Amino acid sequence: MAPFTTPEEAQAAHQTLHKTFKSGRTKSIAWRKWQLKQMWWMVSDNEKAIAAALHTDLNRHDFETYFFDIGAVKNDILVHLDSVEKWAADEIPDAGFLFATLGRARIRKEPLGVALVLSPWNFPVALILEPLMAAISAGCCVMIKPSEISVASQDLMSEMIPKYLDSSAIRVVTGGPKETTLILEQRFDQIFYTGSANIAKIIQKAAAKNLTPTVLELGGQGPAIVTPSADIDLSAKRILYSKFLNGGQICLAANHVYVDPSVQDEFVERIGYHLREFLKNDRTDDMSRIISDRNFERVAGLLEGTQGKVVHGGKQDKATRYIQPTVITDVTMQDSLMSEEIFGPLLPIVKADYKKACELTQTLEHPLAIYIFSNNEKEIEEILANTQSGGVTINDIMFHAGVPNAPFGGVGGSGTGAYHGKYGFETFTHKRTVVRIPFWFEYFLGFRYPPYSAKHVSK
Ligand code: NAD
Repeated sequence: MAPFTTPEEAQAAHQTLHKTFKSGRTKSIAWRKWQLKQMWWMVSDNEKAIAAALHTDLNRHDFETYFFDIGAVKNDILVHLDSVEKWAADEIPDAGFLFATLGRARIRKEPLGVALVLSPWNFPVALILEPLMAAISAGCCVMIKPSEISVASQDLMSEMIPKYLDSSAIRVVTGGPKETTLILEQRFDQIFYTGSANIAKIIQKAAAKNLTPTVLELGGQGPAIVTPSADIDLSAKRILYSKFLNGGQICLAANHVYVDPSVQDEFVERIGYHLREFLKNDRTDDMSRIISDRNFERVAGLLEGTQGKVVHGGKQDKATRYIQPTVITDVTMQDSLMSEEIFGPLLPIVKADYKKACELTQTLEHPLAIYIFSNNEKEIEEILANTQSGGVTINDIMFHAGVPNAPFGGVGGSGTGAYHGKYGFETFTHKRTVVRIPFWFEYFLGFRYPPYSAKHVSK
């Protein structure tokens, strides 16, 4: 592991970024496109190194890395390259003849300035590059602080980014909570944070000192709700898959399932079948490991405390931080498994029809995602109307996060602000209204000045 950035180095980097932003260089579309292209090549040239780093950090299988990190990021960079000019163009407000036509009112899209991007360990490449491409598109300078827990990815990002991207405008700094606390004492124009809600409160408090706006991309206890009208076999397979991917360490995994009592037995049986298929011949290499001993203890502790019944999975190996996808039935809302976001491969099942599931969902913080498994329009609409969440995928998992140019973010306890495509550009952009009032307008505007004594006001 490379040594952490010293406070002096971080301060110098911060000054450089401010100086560069002031120079106006990053505002040109040419600079933005150049950096986006460089970013694309950076990912392309280093696909193997990225896959290796994620394997070291998480035992992530290359298939998942190519699909979710490399492929998705490269594709999203192309969307930004293709659209940045259009997004950055002035907008004419729907302001009527006086302002829009005579006053030439327009909304300029201006970069917010120097942004700080703080990222988590579970997708330690994609969750740096996604906000970074949005910040570049907007014309911002960026300081990036990768998670110190995913060490191989942190080291790779620190090595790769200065080789490909403009170091006077984009800097990687490294550190844990102590170093980050010092970094947060500097003034930024935007803080883009992805991580847990507890740390988000610390970030927001630090940001408040400088009135810095924050985007908080958090997680939560997002449920899957399965009704009898759903395809039970496919619902079971897709929900289980969300606990398999990255070892269930995904903000978008289904945290738990509410299953209608009439289909619970079938659902549990199908999950068992698909689990055996996923782990055929006791293959464990396809599955990511828990990131750290600390998290292993946390997830194992949640399972140990359950009053529910483990019906599938349950194998653990502390030495390799392996936890098999584990399905637990007879779980109540008071269970240890429901005490926090699981962020691991445990799947508690709570017996509840969809109406009860809505009520129970409302007792927790608004989650990042809700998954509705139903083929009945009335049920779907009722669930949508009676819950709140960052996003929703119906009859599958996570897809809403991949809809091009649609906002991805949380609400309430799962975060504030959103990004992806155009919404990412907007997140790092200030919309500045400009209107030009011609001097000859005085003919119409001259009436407004004091003294008011001679003015007639109808009452
Ligand atoms: P975390 O909050 O522990 O860490 C995130 C970042 O904050 C890291 O860079 C870390 O170094 C920094 N940090 C940690 N402690 C700090 C402190 N005391 N002061 C200042 N900075 C500090 O989060 P994590 O454990 O890496 O990630 C897991 C969480 O992130 C889960 O809750 C998950 O749902 C959420 N998440 C959300 C999304 C999303 O897109 N909404 C994506 C991935 C993860």
